[in-house]
Amino acid sequence: MGYIELDVIDDRQKKIVIGIDLGTTNSLPAIWMDDRPQILHVEGQPALVPSVVNFPESGPPIVGHEARARAVIDPTNTIFSIKRFMGRGLADLEVDTRTLPYAISENENGVVQIEVRGRKITPPEVSALILRKVCEQAEAAFENGEVVSAVITVPAYFDDPQRQATRDAARLAGIEVLRIVNEPTAASLAYGLDQKGAGTVAVYDLGGGTFDVSVLSIEEGVFQVLATSGDTQLGGDDFDRLLVDLARTELAGQLSPEELRDPAFLQAARLAAEKCKLALSKDPEHDLHMSLPGSGLSWRRTITREEFEGLIAPLIQRSIDCCARSLADAELETSAVNEVVLVGGSTRVPAVRAAVEKFFGRKPHTELDPDQVVALGAAAQAQVLMGGTRDILLMDVTPLSLGIETVGGAVAKLIERNSTVPCSHTEGFTTYVDGQTAIDFRVLQGERELADDCRTLGRFKLTGLPAMPAGMPRIAVRFHIDADGVLTVTAKEKASGVESTIEVKPMHGLTDDEVEGMLQAGFDNAKEDFDARRAADLKAEIGIMLRAIEKNFDQAREHLDKETLDDLEEARVAAQAATEQDDLKPIQTARDRLEEASTPLAAILMDNVVKQAVSGKKLEDL
Ligand code: ADP
Ligand code: MG
Repeated sequence: MGYIELDVIDDRQKKIVIGIDLGTTNSLPAIWMDDRPQILHVEGQPALVPSVVNFPESGPPIVGHEARARAVIDPTNTIFSIKRFMGRGLADLEVDTRTLPYAISENENGVVQIEVRGRKITPPEVSALILRKVCEQAEAAFENGEVVSAVITVPAYFDDPQRQATRDAARLAGIEVLRIVNEPTAASLAYGLDQKGAGTVAVYDLGGGTFDVSVLSIEEGVFQVLATSGDTQLGGDDFDRLLVDLARTELAGQLSPEELRDPAFLQAARLAAEKCKLALSKDPEHDLHMSLPGSGLSWRRTITREEFEGLIAPLIQRSIDCCARSLADAELETSAVNEVVLVGGSTRVPAVRAAVEKFFGRKPHTELDPDQVVALGAAAQAQVLMGGTRDILLMDVTPLSLGIETVGGAVAKLIERNSTVPCSHTEGFTTYVDGQTAIDFRVLQGERELADDCRTLGRFKLTGLPAMPAGMPRIAVRFHIDADGVLTVTAKEKASGVESTIEVKPMHGLTDDEVEGMLQAGFDNAKEDFDARRAADLKAEIGIMLRAIEKNFDQAREHLDKETLDDLEEARVAAQAATEQDDLKPIQTARDRLEEASTPLAAILMDNVVKQAVSGKKLEDL
């Protein structure tokens, strides 16, 4: 079996579907290929993309390793750890904003904005730049691949706005989100724990800046998060900081307090500390070497692993305390945990591994690279969603109740909020007017009692009912949400067998206008990239519309009046012409015009679809 491929655009370019670990410190793409998930990176180059963006004085934003390196010389225009700000307002932030090297504010919708180079940028926009970089790496690794959609992971504790913000970032980056998956779930998938039968899994994730522990239950391929705990201010960066503090203390005689506080010195010291820490994961001792750019200072000191372990012991203990808390929340003893999975670069530290093993009383899984396991699991999940063979389901919950409008504008809820998907529910309804032969259904989402206060997800009609006295027809309405969160509503009159179905896809995140606005407002050069992508997307859309119009032109000729038909023909020619050039604006105009001109035709076709569906034919046959 090959990679996940949607469509071959031409002989060379492949549309690919990937899994992305969008991390606080590092991000990473993976793909399902040759029967297993694999990390995507260009050979000879590092796999992890640091989740860092630098905004230079001119030119496009710089992302990844280069941005991380530039932090030393340009700390105020370099953004780290944007994930902490996703889907948050100023009041929600757990970080002390005074210590940030940039100004931070809130827009009128309560979205955090970061000020760099005199412009305000939102977290989804920064994340979008990181996602683009990750996709570029994937595309480069996969010769002539074009990333079209992805499974993206988020921490299990991410709430709806945080997940939404992640979706918005993907939209801004031009990627379709196949599914948002919890990081611990992805890690368990990467280890194939779903295929080992039922069990309780603890996932210990110590990254750069955050610690998360999750307890999951896996039963017949169904994952459920039983408890999560963690510390948003605990990670490998804190290990680095302890080494930096040690160096600063010992350098106090040689350097002035100003020099010890110099941002460039601190940044360089952090990088040196991390280097030493990484080495100590495999060597018993290593030199911590620091130099102050500009001055002649060069300082060296040997650190033994033992000394380092002594420094970080209290931090490790904090993480273990969290583990105890999450087990208590799940009302489980450590002995009830069947598997322990290690995630995050910082679990490479031998003392961390030892502490986890001691606490849970069993050897944790370490066969896979701990900083790759989430991305690998995301790729495995993407493969499943693309119709792969592995039989698993992830427990997502519906955020809002779903139902239909009944007599007098009331709402009958068929699926309650927080139901785990996939799920379905059927309820019986009847008519309330004698001889009624058609029923309008309005599918609603929300918690309010009145239909007009809820959001209308869609409408459809059940027609062709045999005329019966009110209250006689037995209409079974079935709501089904599949594992992708797609809702299908079916209404069937039992006596006659008349049936009608619609599929309802809930919209997520920002409105198109908002996204459009953000794209326009983006940094100048990034904007060009976005524009080019957007133009390509619009052209593809026009192509699809043109093909559909062509296919149904006979119907158009038959049913549309001359004026409407001429208008459609004109819009068609203009759209065709627009696809032959590259400027975004005219393409956009042509697309909008085509959409408008083809609306009457679409209405006719929709009408037919409904009629056909009602007369028992399947939509696919049309
Ligand atoms: P996140 O999930 O926050 O994006 P990662 O899982 O990529 O982060 O972890 C990054 C952290 O892991 C950094 O603090 C890095 O220094 C640390 N790390 C990576 N490799 C090692 C290693 N070999 N030994 C110790 N720490 C490591
Ligand atoms: Mg991570």
